[in-house]
Amino acid sequence: MKRERSEQLFRKATEFFPGGVNSPVRAFRSVGGTPLFIEKGDGCYLTDADGNTFIDFCCSWGPLILGHNAAPVREKIVAAVQHGTSFGAPTQKENELAELILTNHRYIEKIRFVSSGTEAVMSAIRLARGVTGRPLIVKFEGCYHGHVDSLLVKAGSGLSTFGISSSAGIPESVAKDTIVVPLNDRRALEIAVSDFAHDIAAVVIEPIPANNGLLLQEKSYLEFLREITRKNNILLIFDEVISGFRVGFEGAAGHYGIQPDIITYGKIIGGGMPVGAYGASKEIMSNIAPEGDVYQAGTLSGNPVAMAAGHAQLSECLKPGFYEDLEARTIAFTDRLNHYSSTKQYDFKVFRAGSIFWFAFTPLDAIRSSEEIDPKSMDKFRILHKTLLENGVYLGPSGYEVGFVSAAHTREVLEKAAEVICAALDVVYA
Ligand SMILES: *Cc1c(COP(=O)(O)O)cnc(C)c1O
Repeated sequence: MKRERSEQLFRKATEFFPGGVNSPVRAFRSVGGTPLFIEKGDGCYLTDADGNTFIDFCCSWGPLILGHNAAPVREKIVAAVQHGTSFGAPTQKENELAELILTNHRYIEKIRFVSSGTEAVMSAIRLARGVTGRPLIVKFEGCYHGHVDSLLVKAGSGLSTFGISSSAGIPESVAKDTIVVPLNDRRALEIAVSDFAHDIAAVVIEPIPANNGLLLQEKSYLEFLREITRKNNILLIFDEVISGFRVGFEGAAGHYGIQPDIITYGKIIGGGMPVGAYGASKEIMSNIAPEGDVYQAGTLSGNPVAMAAGHAQLSECLKPGFYEDLEARTIAFTDRLNHYSSTKQYDFKVFRAGSIFWFAFTPLDAIRSSEEIDPKSMDKFRILHKTLLENGVYLGPSGYEVGFVSAAHTREVLEKAAEVICAALDVVYA
């Protein structure tokens, strides 16, 4: 496999950007080697600067549920651009995307568009604090919510603790407004709530935690979150930046049949353009400026080109059978891998939710919290990742990241990919 051009471009990039990248995981540090510089994407394929082609399971980290350069999205983007790119004034396109979402979604009544998932979560947190008049936030170890200051915190020692910042530049005064508890642990949350019930504005969770492995929670645990928050007048925020429009049009809320108070979106909602959003009941959303006193704004919010892309993509998702078909193909793919692994008695499992999957090097049958992930298993992922690249399969460059199947991954492509992955597992366990 040729790498010269990517290596050259990466050397150049390190002169311009910290670590040579504009988002850390792209630097390939956890798998080693130089990142591939991508030239183009088409359907389920990526082509890099050296002309190598890969079956892509990263899909831009989730947004591209139709695959790369999908014609319906591209055509609407091109048409929108003909009329200008940004006005800083309302356009019909915002109404169209909002109407499409709200008329097909039972869990939110009003929405506000922003430009990234981080911005969506940051705004949802402010809204929760504004509505309740309380300062504290509860988050779960192993959930990622973008680079929001108050959520870039990790647990200290103990079951239910005030956060310790997990990035330089976040003052202790900010970190201590976040309580961090483990996933799948009712007692830890009960302790936090009984100690601080009247100061907690919101409990925020990825209902399908997919940023630190795929830590599938039991439905009854999510129902427990709903009950304990409701009982204590704490808002429940579902961060559905990954799961929204992915495990179904109504995301995890619809999948589990649980009504959270605020839901955040990103990734798929923008059709590959920078869009985020948060939504809630009319009553809660009435607290947002200019209707209410929680301030939140954006120069490029509701950008018409991005709205057109989101509308085009979500329209495809709403076609009958879209999610059923995507999930069926994903199941065939992950079943085949799991079957191969168990036949060979490898400590390897593929966990799955909808068209999201995660490769876990583990003897466990379920992994529900981050401490159940063995850091040493990442050595195996490194070998797998390298072997797959050499054989034309691209995964996100970290063993803690999930993979995505898109509508462009046909059964034939998935069979071919599964063959390559099975052979790569033999290399890992050789
Ligand atoms: C990706 C992600 C974010 C952050 O979104 P950005 O668009 O990268 O800012 C927040 N929450 C979850 C659950 C995510 O997966």
